[in-house]
Amino acid sequence: MNYKTGQLVQLSLKDGREYEGRVISIKEERIIIKLKNGYNVGIFKKNVRDAKPIKEKPVVKNENKKPLLNKKLPKLTILHMGGTIASKVDYELGGVSPLFEPEEIISLFPELSTLVYIESKLVSRMLSENLRFSDLNKLVSAIKDALNAEKKPKGIIITHGTDMLHYTAAALSFLIENPPLPIILVGSQRSSDRPSSDSKSNLMAAVHFILKSESKGVFICIHESSSDNSCLILRGTNARKMHSSRRDAFKPINTEALARISLKDYSIEWLSKEENQNKAPKFYTMNPNLKIGMFYVHPSMCKEELGGILKMDGAIIIGTGLGHIGLNDENEFILKLIKEAISKGVIIAITPQTLFGRISLNVYSTGRKLKELGVLGHESNMLPETAFMKLAFLMSNFKKEEIYELYNKNLRGELSMKSPYEDDYIDAD
Ligand code: ASP
Repeated sequence: MNYKTGQLVQLSLKDGREYEGRVISIKEERIIIKLKNGYNVGIFKKNVRDAKPIKEKPVVKNENKKPLLNKKLPKLTILHMGGTIASKVDYELGGVSPLFEPEEIISLFPELSTLVYIESKLVSRMLSENLRFSDLNKLVSAIKDALNAEKKPKGIIITHGTDMLHYTAAALSFLIENPPLPIILVGSQRSSDRPSSDSKSNLMAAVHFILKSESKGVFICIHESSSDNSCLILRGTNARKMHSSRRDAFKPINTEALARISLKDYSIEWLSKEENQNKAPKFYTMNPNLKIGMFYVHPSMCKEELGGILKMDGAIIIGTGLGHIGLNDENEFILKLIKEAISKGVIIAITPQTLFGRISLNVYSTGRKLKELGVLGHESNMLPETAFMKLAFLMSNFKKEEIYELYNKNLRGELSMKSPYEDDYIDAD
């Protein structure tokens, strides 16, 4: 048949159906074409009656000689960590491949060429589920380089896979004290070739936020709802991926979003107080060899599982309710393991499975026992992922006594004294 990968074709099937689209893969028995509406369709070769290539207009390269990159515009640094955002369909390979040269980014999002001068760097091509502490160090060093450049950027956008985006957002919030500009993590749940893609809207909203506000900090920019009305700017320490596939997967937890960006006119509506300090930035790194475990409390926990805590440097226990873990006679081994781990120097903190609300280790006897043993986290409303990164940051950069003091202090907005979702509980003390 007359078609090859990457070609625009018209296929007539034996049963009378007609398809027009671009060939994205040719396998032994089937060909897959991408239809104009963005969806892919697989067709058995044996069912194709006729295939005609469609003539395409030749691609005119920057015909009017307008510079794609205008250095007079405010500078935007884009750092790529990977993920679906800012990637394009590779018709040869059939998958999506990252776009990281400034010209390539502009070819995908042409409006950017009139708004910003882009400088970009590929930090990693990873799926975020593969993230390690060493990757965070690479990212901090790329941010430092961007800030030291001759022409200072107005903001930094980090394109990142969504799965662990909130871990990176929390980590950067701790690793960069007093960021002098907005550092915005942008992800997307649907790649840019799909009709429902959120790549462009999330990226454009982040760019407009950088251009129109004076905010400084680590933020996430993501769809507010499943419609295309607005995006939210969320603070890096209080957001979490709460849906596996929806475009509004990220939600602010125990706090409000910072701002809403309209996708109609990119205006900003402030939803809480703008962050804007003028202190000198300070950079930290993670110890890449640090072992921090996360233990999710559930019925019938076993020794083999929790025993791993003895081999850790630190641990986050994701406890039930106000911060509990079974400690009765049948679960006595838990108490023993925690005691032994703490005496060996393991630093342990507890966070709530409920995500919303605050830990109180004063209400039930199990909580009081944990507190007596030196488990951290009493009164904290930090997310487990934020607590994990905070502990990693503290253990990488501070002495033991300092860690015990700093963990319960609000360093980067990760702990709020009063949560809007807070319910009354009776404190036994
Ligand atoms: N698994 C991917 C990642 O987190 C999904 C995405 O790109 O959003 O990297």
